[in-house]
Amino acid sequence: MTESTLISNYTNLAKYMALDQKGNVMAEYVWIDGKGALRCKSRTLTEKVTDVSQLPEWNFDGSSTGQAPGDNSDVYLRPKAYYPDPIRLGDNIMVMCECWMSDGKPNSFNFRHDAEMVMEAHKGEVYWFGLEQEYTLLGADGWPYGWPRNGFPGPQGPYYCAVGTGNVMCRDIVEAHYKACLYAGIQISGTNAEVMPAQWEYQVGPCEGIKLGDQLWMSRFLLHRVAEEFGAKVTFAPKPIPGDWNGAGLHTNVSTKAMREEGGLKVIEAAMEKLAGRHKEHMAVYGEGNESRMTGAHETASYDKFTWGVANRGSSVRINRAVAVEGKGYFEDRRPASNADPYQCTGIIVETISGMVEG
Ligand code: ADP
Ligand code: MN
Ligand code: MN
Ligand code: MN
Ligand code: MN
Repeated sequence: MTESTLISNYTNLAKYMALDQKGNVMAEYVWIDGKGALRCKSRTLTEKVTDVSQLPEWNFDGSSTGQAPGDNSDVYLRPKAYYPDPIRLGDNIMVMCECWMSDGKPNSFNFRHDAEMVMEAHKGEVYWFGLEQEYTLLGADGWPYGWPRNGFPGPQGPYYCAVGTGNVMCRDIVEAHYKACLYAGIQISGTNAEVMPAQWEYQVGPCEGIKLGDQLWMSRFLLHRVAEEFGAKVTFAPKPIPGDWNGAGLHTNVSTKAMREEGGLKVIEAAMEKLAGRHKEHMAVYGEGNESRMTGAHETASYDKFTWGVANRGSSVRINRAVAVEGKGYFEDRRPASNADPYQCTGIIVETISGMVEG
């Protein structure tokens, strides 16, 4: 499909999108597959949804998504959160689901379930998370969008937080995604162009507990969905282009109620001790291929060693200068790669700082 047919198709589509649905609701069920990719399918509901408990359980063929063997392939979808659909509008919704097996156990790629358990157990600490999602936009050919076909753009420097043709690529996708998230009620807190051209960031949060993972996954779904309309690909690869080009992360900003209150810096420092003791366990769930990103260069720390510091973008964990001055606030775990699972990232942080769930 050429760019011009894409555009004319969407002009035609608009006519059908405006048709009356006769009181029906289109629900887009979204889940995470065996490779950490998003999957979705739609169903019609006959009434407007006002609570997640009204959403029926559903199922899919797990042998087609790497989530179940062919001889026992039914995987069940359990709705956990829903959002207004910015593409279909009206009462239509998008539904974030957990995957469950017929024996009543969570699917082995259902990382939300464990995260929610540990968060429930430590609910009283009122964890807030704010994640910075970096990503790269690619053309249909898989090369970064707007880069010369058989070459490279000028070296990094002018692109971060840039404006102007040649400095930024695909701002239309970024703008469309920003609005789509706001419409859906996702707490997107900002966006900026990144150091590598065609690389961008947006932030989600602060959200309490498991809500962060739900919203971040749905924001990723919307990014893929929006980029699809513009004929671009999204990659969350941690080091999409080898060499002197920045990688992409999922900086994870964290606070508890005690960290946000007077004297909170002491609580943050105590958390650093605990994080230092479980560096390996954290790195194991902080994204695949993260070692190619965490080289110690390009504003990253080394992959093997835990370090923390005030205003230091070369350490594993950074404490914002303003937080150190105020003596309370939050910390930034800079280790997670852009492709990490936010349920796993936030779950292990609660586990390490507040303790595991007993039993
Ligand atoms: P950076 O300076 O690292 O680029 P950003 O401004 O991109 O930081 O992102 C900061 C993130 O921290 C935002 O997602 C914001 O929601 C989050 N945040 C702010 N305050 C808190 C807090 N008290 N607890 C957890 N997250 C927070
Ligand atoms: Mn079928
Ligand atoms: Mn940022
Ligand atoms: Mn960034
Ligand atoms: Mn950051």
